[in-house]
Amino acid sequence: MSMQSEPMVEQQLRARGIANERVLEAMEHVPRHEFVPGPWRELAYEDRPLPIGYDQTISQPYIVAFMTEVVDPQPNQRILEIGAGSGYQTAVLAELAGEVYSVELLPQLAERAKKTLTALGYRNVHVRQGDGYLGWKEKGPFDSIVVTCGSADVPEALIEQLKPGGVMIIPVGTVGGEQMLQLFVKQLDGAVEMRNQMPVRFVPLRRAEDVFPN
Ligand code: SAH
Repeated sequence: MSMQSEPMVEQQLRARGIANERVLEAMEHVPRHEFVPGPWRELAYEDRPLPIGYDQTISQPYIVAFMTEVVDPQPNQRILEIGAGSGYQTAVLAELAGEVYSVELLPQLAERAKKTLTALGYRNVHVRQGDGYLGWKEKGPFDSIVVTCGSADVPEALIEQLKPGGVMIIPVGTVGGEQMLQLFVKQLDGAVEMRNQMPVRFVPLRRAEDVFPN
């Protein structure tokens, strides 16, 4: 069982067309096994998503790389992620961007992601518990937004918190089924353009009031 990221990068990412060297380097650098809980750790570099507890999953490495490559984060940029989960995608973005802001609905996962990222020395990540459907207005606007849970619709707040010239990647479609990974590009004049990327299957984006009813 390989616990190294290099074969993952070569066989799962480069071989499938991920070509951005900065992205490949980031994926090689981040210790994915640190984000995978106990029993699943030895499978951390396999070509698959894995459970991270609370019915949630860490995405397949290829999907993380694909979304990162589409967004192409730059050192001077601020990125918003919705669904910190394990914090793995957060870390990959933090390798490449200036500051990464991540909203996670489940308090237990938000806490764990914070701990993992701090322990690994990431100083440019900011994780908070909250409903990411609403974004993180006080910290916006963002150069790009990465949504790592499947949404039934496109959250208006996220489009609003995107800078002109910014991009958002988001799985949109049926909850619990297949979604289309969609890229939204906000033009300098504010008009928004959408491009379908590929079919994917993410855990659902849920709303705070459904998960924590009063
Ligand atoms: N990027 C994560 C993937 C986690 S799975 C990783 O690399 O591990 C998607 C995450 O989205 C889950 O942790 C889930 O709790 C979270 N989520 C679901 N609905 C949400 C919402 N409305 N706001 C923020 N996070 C949400």
